[in-house]
Amino acid sequence: MPEPILNTRGLTAFYKDFQALYGVDLSVDQGEVLAIIGANGAGKSTLLRSIAGLMRNGADQIAFKGQPIGALRADQVAALGIALVPEGRQLFPSLSVEENLLIGGRIKRPGPWSLEAVYKLFPILKERRNQASTSLSGGQQQMVAIGRALMSNPDLILFDEISLGLAPIIIKDIYDALPGIVGGGMSAVIVEQDISKALSVSSRVYCLQEGRVSLEGATGEISREAISRAYFGVE
Ligand code: ATP
Repeated sequence: MPEPILNTRGLTAFYKDFQALYGVDLSVDQGEVLAIIGANGAGKSTLLRSIAGLMRNGADQIAFKGQPIGALRADQVAALGIALVPEGRQLFPSLSVEENLLIGGRIKRPGPWSLEAVYKLFPILKERRNQASTSLSGGQQQMVAIGRALMSNPDLILFDEISLGLAPIIIKDIYDALPGIVGGGMSAVIVEQDISKALSVSSRVYCLQEGRVSLEGATGEISREAISRAYFGVE
């Protein structure tokens, strides 16, 4: 078995005195799409933010390609090859579509992703490249956020609630684009409220409940009942 590209071991995370993660053990294999599901407040965003270097975690609690990264800053983690598509997109409102994309490209890593490649994936962004990012629809803004992450040519991409608040047709467009994104061997972690969507694209799934892993397994082998139990904590 090849080494997982990412491991967390006993991962804890705090917001001041509030503990949001309690000893999360997780691994992401090379080239796999992993889904994280769980109710509101379960700790899904905190987990992704921890991996992306946006929380304070123990140095040895997260390893990427065998290297401890838990104490690194977000820019250092990005330079190693992890990109986050954050919840709520968090684009720079005063910048154009293309300027937002180029910000992701400031992290110089070799790979297939460039402005042209992003425009090929989402042609509407090329048409709108000189417009302010705020003038785009929510779905198009999500495409910019994904494109910005891809521009750093990450080996691991983290998606936080990519379909939240988007129209079903746009969600379909974005999910249809996923194979073209991860097909080149990139690994992905997808946090998703829509369990069916999450299961449809992932090979393995972890369920978080109140900051702990309540279920993990291969997508095809986990029953809906087990997911409901792990998700809501009902017996
Ligand atoms: P959601 O789907 O609502 O985003 P989530 O599973 O992503 O939920 P997190 O956002 O990781 O959950 O939140 C985990 C816990 O940490 C929640 O109890 C939340 O209230 C708390 N929390 C999140 N952000 C902060 C913050 N900035 N300050 C204090 N507590 C926070």
